[in-house]
Amino acid sequence: MKWGVSMPNEIWILAEQQDGKVKKIVLELLSAAIDFSKKTGQEVSALLLGSGLGESVKNLSPFADKIYLLDDPSLIPYTSDLFLTSIASLVKEHQPSILLGGATSTGKDLFPRLAMHLQTGYVPDCTGLSMGEDGKLTAMRPLFGGKVFAEMAFSGAGPQMATVRNNTFLVNDKPDRTAKVISVSPQIDPATIKKTVTGFEKAAGAKLDITEADIVVAAGRGIKAPENFKIMEDLADAINASVGTTRATVDEGWRDLKDQIGKSGKNISAKLYMAFGISGAIHHVLGIGTCKTVVAVDKDPNALIFNYADYGIVGDLFQIVPALTEELKKVLSTE
Ligand SMILES: Cc1cc2nc3c(=O)[nH]c(=O)nc-3n(C[C@H](O)[C@H](O)[C@H](O)COP(=O)(O)OP(=O)(O)OC[C@H]3O[C@@H](n4cnc5c(N)ncnc54)[C@H](O)[C@@H]3O)c2cc1C
Repeated sequence: MKWGVSMPNEIWILAEQQDGKVKKIVLELLSAAIDFSKKTGQEVSALLLGSGLGESVKNLSPFADKIYLLDDPSLIPYTSDLFLTSIASLVKEHQPSILLGGATSTGKDLFPRLAMHLQTGYVPDCTGLSMGEDGKLTAMRPLFGGKVFAEMAFSGAGPQMATVRNNTFLVNDKPDRTAKVISVSPQIDPATIKKTVTGFEKAAGAKLDITEADIVVAAGRGIKAPENFKIMEDLADAINASVGTTRATVDEGWRDLKDQIGKSGKNISAKLYMAFGISGAIHHVLGIGTCKTVVAVDKDPNALIFNYADYGIVGDLFQIVPALTEELKKVLSTE
């Protein structure tokens, strides 16, 4: 049988979960797949692997037509060996035309191996996907640290595979599907297991990743020195936020690349984004397009960031951040 010719070619999304909770990127990808399916009539399926997944099934159900459920204690924690053999055999059996996952550490580990195994095309770390009426995907991905963007199309047989960055798509707030759950026995062959996970260690003081946080507070070069980020951490602690930044401070070596917001960093989708001492260069604001409310503080009244802000304060961040932290602490302690 030729791939995707006489089978109903579904769009498959790898439904990554942690402790039984589906990751937000999964719902973003399923929402995009629902939009694609309106063009092509394809079914949307979630591929869920792990154990004790009742809550995840509930979360996924309105976003998919089918859930392929591979429930086995040996699939916790994730190892590429077991996921690879289980997913590859399912893909060969059902021949989806598209297989997408998040550009997460799991996605980045699993998808290239899977694509190699299936001998098919794979585009990593996409910041955009569009679907033609013929079911062909076009994938957009940054290259050379975001200096250029490549548009890539797939050719040949086999599923079109891509991993996509968080917050590339919005989560559909009125999903209306009801998934049929199809239980599948995973292919567990102890002979294929070449590594085992012996444990996890949480980084000291770790906060939610900026792509997952509801509130992100960020400082740019206006913060002047790495040690001054302490006032940002204090503000973040007071309101349960994560701390982001600009490329300028990352290039200075003041902050880690994982906290960089923007075109060559991460897209965030916070309910509240507060920018302090950030000029608002296009490369930065490209990463905040789906934030609900943006507050900007800059001493330059002509800073571009004010064009993207719902609320702006012209002033010195070294006065405003500590005052705001104290005020918010007072307000929150009376709630
Ligand atoms: C290919 C490419 C990709 C890029 N990708 C990214 C990206 O992903 N993310 C990103 O952020 N940038 C990116 N950049 C860099 C981007 O173009 C800007 O240079 C960068 O965002 C500027 O960072 P900034 O706002 O921190 O610094 P600046 O532009 O120097 O702005 C500092 C701001 O702080 C204000 N300020 C100073 N002191 C105070 C004070 N005491 N109180 C209040 N305000 C004060 C100033 O008025 C100014 O507006 C990229 C550039 C290129 C060429």
